[in-house]
Amino acid sequence: MSFDCSGHIKDFLHELPKCEHHLHLEGTLQPSLLFKLAERNNITLPDLLPKTVEECDERYNNFANLQDFLDHYYIGMSVLIHEEDFYDLAMAYFEKAHSDQCLHSEVFFDPQGHVERGIDIDNVVGGFNRACQDATTKFGTTNKLIMCLLRHLPASEGLKTIEMTHKYYEQGVIHGLGLDSTEVPNIPSIFTECYQDLKQKFPHIGLTSHAGEEGDFTYIEEALDHLKVTRIDHGVNAVQKDELMEHLAKEEILLTVCPMSNLKLRVVDDIGKLPLRKFLDKKVPFSINSDDPAYFGGYILDNYLAVQKHFGLSVDDWKFIALSSIKHSWCDDVRKQELTDLVHSVISKYDGLL
Ligand SMILES: [Zn+2]
Repeated sequence: MSFDCSGHIKDFLHELPKCEHHLHLEGTLQPSLLFKLAERNNITLPDLLPKTVEECDERYNNFANLQDFLDHYYIGMSVLIHEEDFYDLAMAYFEKAHSDQCLHSEVFFDPQGHVERGIDIDNVVGGFNRACQDATTKFGTTNKLIMCLLRHLPASEGLKTIEMTHKYYEQGVIHGLGLDSTEVPNIPSIFTECYQDLKQKFPHIGLTSHAGEEGDFTYIEEALDHLKVTRIDHGVNAVQKDELMEHLAKEEILLTVCPMSNLKLRVVDDIGKLPLRKFLDKKVPFSINSDDPAYFGGYILDNYLAVQKHFGLSVDDWKFIALSSIKHSWCDDVRKQELTDLVHSVISKYDGLL
């Protein structure tokens, strides 16, 4: 089934104020910037990576699974060396997000993927943080950094990373903790001590974790029970258990859903098969996100449009999505009210047109 996604509905979805909660800055590395940075930093790229932008796009269009994508993702990381590389990468994303009317972004980064290559953590966080600040000045958007631990590495490495980044949490430069990379069989509870340790030191930070993408619903339950997260990245496999769906709705646990990513990594073979209608009917809050847009073929607006094309959602459905994504953001109440007011004014503007 395919629904109309042109005219007023397209304009409405473009103008609708958006919050992005599931975006890996390293996953915004477009092949054109990848090649530019490789040249700037004299990096010889491995043979696994195609030699041209067009060939990269083609290869990225045909990932076999999550691990196949991750193999390319880590090659991409290898061109990021200096503070300005991290800055350029993040600024390119913030500019694109702003053009999609994404007004608040909470963005992931993977410090371990850089530090283990000998990159100074100050280059990574310094470049990303400067871009967050400059994007606010230039575009009026609000932006927050969330550090992710790589779950294919042991928890002891995660604890070292937490220690290394302590000063950034103290300074309020990093706002949350997440868990990403190879989901199965790296169950969330392996990282309980990492989450407890950081939350004890900084009670105000946000906690989230990738769960229920390739892993089944038990990964989501583990992340909630053991890591005490207040939202779940992906989480589409929550649909496997009714009691879990009821719990997510009752406790208002936000799922940060990534439709085009799920299609490209073959979590589903059709975006229309994602359980979004069930989430809406059961009042499970979710946001729509781009995950790794350079690798999955679309930014946040592309994902909104893909959802509309496959589900033909109503204005009320979009209102629920837009307001949920604001309510469960980690920005302050003043910013939430500003964004909420903007959503209402866009909905009023299109009243009677959709
Ligand atoms: Zn992700």
